[in-house]
This record gives sequence, C-alpha cells and structure tokens, in this order.
Amino acid sequence: MSTASAEQTAIDGVPKQLLIGGEWRDASSGETFSVEDPSTGETLCEIADGGEDDAKAALDAACAVQEEWAATPANDRSDILQKAFELMKEREDELATAMTLEMGKSIAESKAELTYASEFFRWNAGEALRLDGYYKQAANGTGRVLVMKQPVGPCYFITPWNFPAAMGTRKIGPAIAAGCTMVMKPAQLTPLTMLNLAKLLQEAGLPDGVLNIVTGASSSSISKPIISDPRLRKLSFTGSTEVGQMLIEQSAERVLKTSMELGGNAPFLVFEDADLDAAVEGAMTAKMRNIGEACTSANRFHVAASVADEFTEKLAEKMRALNVGRGVDEDTDIGPLIDDDQRQKVAELVDDATSKGATAVVGGGARDGAGYFFEPTVLSGVPDEARLRKEEIFGPVAPVFTFDSEDEAIAAANDTEYGLVAYVFTRDLKRAFRVCEKLETGMIGLNQGLVSNAGAPFGGVKASGIGREGGNEGIEEFLETKYVAINL
Ligand code: NAP
Repeated sequence: MSTASAEQTAIDGVPKQLLIGGEWRDASSGETFSVEDPSTGETLCEIADGGEDDAKAALDAACAVQEEWAATPANDRSDILQKAFELMKEREDELATAMTLEMGKSIAESKAELTYASEFFRWNAGEALRLDGYYKQAANGTGRVLVMKQPVGPCYFITPWNFPAAMGTRKIGPAIAAGCTMVMKPAQLTPLTMLNLAKLLQEAGLPDGVLNIVTGASSSSISKPIISDPRLRKLSFTGSTEVGQMLIEQSAERVLKTSMELGGNAPFLVFEDADLDAAVEGAMTAKMRNIGEACTSANRFHVAASVADEFTEKLAEKMRALNVGRGVDEDTDIGPLIDDDQRQKVAELVDDATSKGATAVVGGGARDGAGYFFEPTVLSGVPDEARLRKEEIFGPVAPVFTFDSEDEAIAAANDTEYGLVAYVFTRDLKRAFRVCEKLETGMIGLNQGLVSNAGAPFGGVKASGIGREGGNEGIEEFLETKYVAINL
C-alpha cells in the first residue's frame, strides 16, 4: 500500500504550469483547473488553464527554434532521447504514482505503461542516427536522382487520457529524432504525467522551445488557433474517431499533414483448435489491460460454438478473481474507470445487452461508493443486435458471441467501421495465415493478447486512423521527402 505522504510527494513534484519556450509559466488568464483522482472523486491539484493566447505563444516558441533544432547533430538528438529513456527508468516509482493517481490504473499497470512509453525514446534514439536518403543514376543514364529526408517542421500533438505517457512519447520520440519542434496538448483528465515528462526531457538536455506544453480545460480554444496557423506543418492526434474526423476537417483547409490514431472495436477470435488456456490468458490481457480502456481492448469475443461454454467459464473464473480497488493499493488488479460519464456509458451498454437476452456470468454493474468502479464482467449468449457489438465499450466487459465456421468468424470480425487490431487464437498454421490475410485491421495478435511494441508499426485502417507510430514506419510521419533532379 502506498502511503498518503508518498502520494502527496508525487503530486507536489509535478510542475503545474505551462511550458513555453523553456519557461514554466501560468496561463495568461491566470486561471487554473482541477485534476481529479477517479478512485475517490477528490481533487488532486490545480494546474494552469491555457487558452488561445498561450497556444499562440507556444507555437511561436516552437517556430522560433525549428531551424536551429533541425540543424542539431543527430548524435545530440539521439543522446537526449537515450538520456530521457534512462531518467524514465530512474524515476519510475514517482512517475507511476502520479499516473495512477490521475488515471486510476494499478501501479503495476502504470509501470508497464512507463516501460512501453520509455521504449519510444530508446527506439528513436536509434532512429535519429539512421535518417538517410539516396543518390542514383536516372534510368536514361544521363540525369541523377538525389532524394533527401528533412524534418516536416513544427508539429502539434493532442493525446488522450488512457495512456498519459505512451501516447505522448510515441509522438515526441520520433519528432525529436527527426528534428521537429512541437506543441503538446495532453488530455485535461490526465495532464500530470505529461508535465512530469516535459520536466524530465528538460533535464535530459532538450533545448528550450523544442517541446512546449499547453494544458487546458477547453481543447478547442487551444487547438483551433494552432491548426489554422500556416506555420504549423503537422498534426498528430490520438483519441476518438469522432474528434479525429473533426480535426481532419479543420486540417483540410491548409492541407495539413495529419496522423490519426483513432478508436477501435477489436474482435478476439477463438477457433475450436485453439489452446483454450492460452486463449483465456490472451483474453485477460487483451480485455483487462488498462481496465479495458484501451483502443486495442478486445471489444467482442467470437468463439467457436463447440468451445464457447468452456472458454466463457474459464474467462469468468479469472475475471471473478480480480481485485478491484484504488490503483495505488498494492493488491489492486483493476482500478476505477476514468469518470462518471464513462462508467454510465459502460453500464448502459451492459444493460442494453442483458435487456436483449445476454446473461452476466460474472459482474454486470457499477460499484457503489466513492470512485468510478465497475465490476469485471463476462456476458454470454449476447445477441448480434446488442449495441456493444458495434460500439467501443472502453470498460472491463467481455461479451461472448459464437460462430459455426471460419468464414462466419471472419465476416463477424470485419463487420465494423473500425480496423485497428484483431486477435486470433488457433493452433492450425494454415488457418492462422488464411485468417490474418482476410482481417481488415492494421494489427493482429496471433496467439497473443498484446501487440504494442515500440519496434513495430502501430496503427489502424478504416475509421481507426491514418499513419503508423513506432517501427521503421513511425519516423516517416515526421519527415518530408525532397527529390532533386540533377542535370550532369
Ligand atoms: P477524445 O475525447 O477524442 O479526446 C482525445 C484528445 O482530444 C484529448 O486531449 C481531448 O481534450 C482532445 N479533444 C477533444 N475535443 C477536441 C476538440 N474539439 N478539438 C481539439 N481537441 C479535442 O478521446 P479520449 O476519450 O480522450 O480517448 C479515448 C479514445 O481514444 C478512444 O476512442 C480510443 O480508442 C482512442 N485511442 C486510440 C488510440 C490509438 O492509438 N488508435 C490510443 C489510445 C486511445 P480534452 O481532454 O480537453 O477533452
């Protein structure tokens, strides 16, 4: 169990101001807003409530140092990222406590996220050293082709509340590696982790103005002036498809280069030949990581009818054993949902499914008392008309549907506007490849319930997004390709 004083120390250590041009300062309005602990509903602290003027000042600061930063040697940019990676390891306890307090997930989960998040600094420390282009003879034999890669320029990042560190480092890491400057707007529900990381990056040697942070309670008053400014060259957004669509519209006016990591509705397929114990382990990870509040969260389980009862029973047994409580308490497996709106939405989806014939094998409702807790839930006999088959649940609820054939399973998996990730459990190698080829998603977990990996391209197709983060592809989002036709 963490002590109240350790919690207070973690909160006291967070900078509560905006970071603009290397200087921590209050919002120009002098206003602040509250950050809440979702496990108690109590206020943790007040932080600067930035607005339009602060947004403009932050972009001014990013633009002022873009040229100098792009000219900084790759070795220096790489060293800063490597140092930031190391500092994240050193500060893990303090960072994890602040993250758990603002977001709700268990300390173990916060540490796992910090490890994942720090890997984007380590990976991109390498990427900074591998930026290249090429020179070749044109096909006609006389001309020459020179291709160079250059940083896109000042970037604007908007991140969600569910992974307060990793969703930021997935953008900041490659931007630093490529030589871009940036303005970052973290989610208003969980800004503390990003403020901590900004302080850490300063200590790692990041020059003033390269990373600017604007926190605020009105996202559009920060975002609109930045997105409409002709000096901005790139928008990278992680969040809901609905907000992403709106931002794409705003970006269209200036044909702004965008990357969009949006919502998901991940199918989890279990074939009759699967190792059922492994499938249940994978299901627990794919469903319960981050309290089910992940874009990669398994939203619906499609299980071969012949093994559906056994799979459901085994999954329910694991879910029943989970300890729900405050994330800072040592024996907690599952923390609260982020806020009351989210909890009500999850409750509505469960009520809709049960009113249409589904049975709650375990859980099924919110917990009374302080905090936004929802019981780990397994639903069986879920009819196809249930809303949660189409809508992102974002909570600890596992609905089980059944199928009778491989074609039926693939059709069910693809029957969604989203296309972020799918999970497939089978021991039949030929089936595994057949199914992977036919799934309309950007990522697939084959006999595993986790795909996140800094060294692999993360991203979706269809309404789940545009572009990739991580892997060899991630850095490309921050580079422009320039071609010079040479007349010899
Ligand atoms: P959200 O409501 O779309 O918010 C995401 C970010 O956008 C927040 O910083 C939010 O600011 C900001 N925002 C909201 N309205 C805006 C506007 N009109 N103009 C500019 N910015 C605006 O999403 P969320 O509820 O935080 O996150 C959950 C969603 O993110 C889920 O759909 C999930 O699947 C998706 N997600 C996707 C990925 C991925 O990699 N594909 C990863 C994680 C999450 P405020 O905080 O001020 O509202």
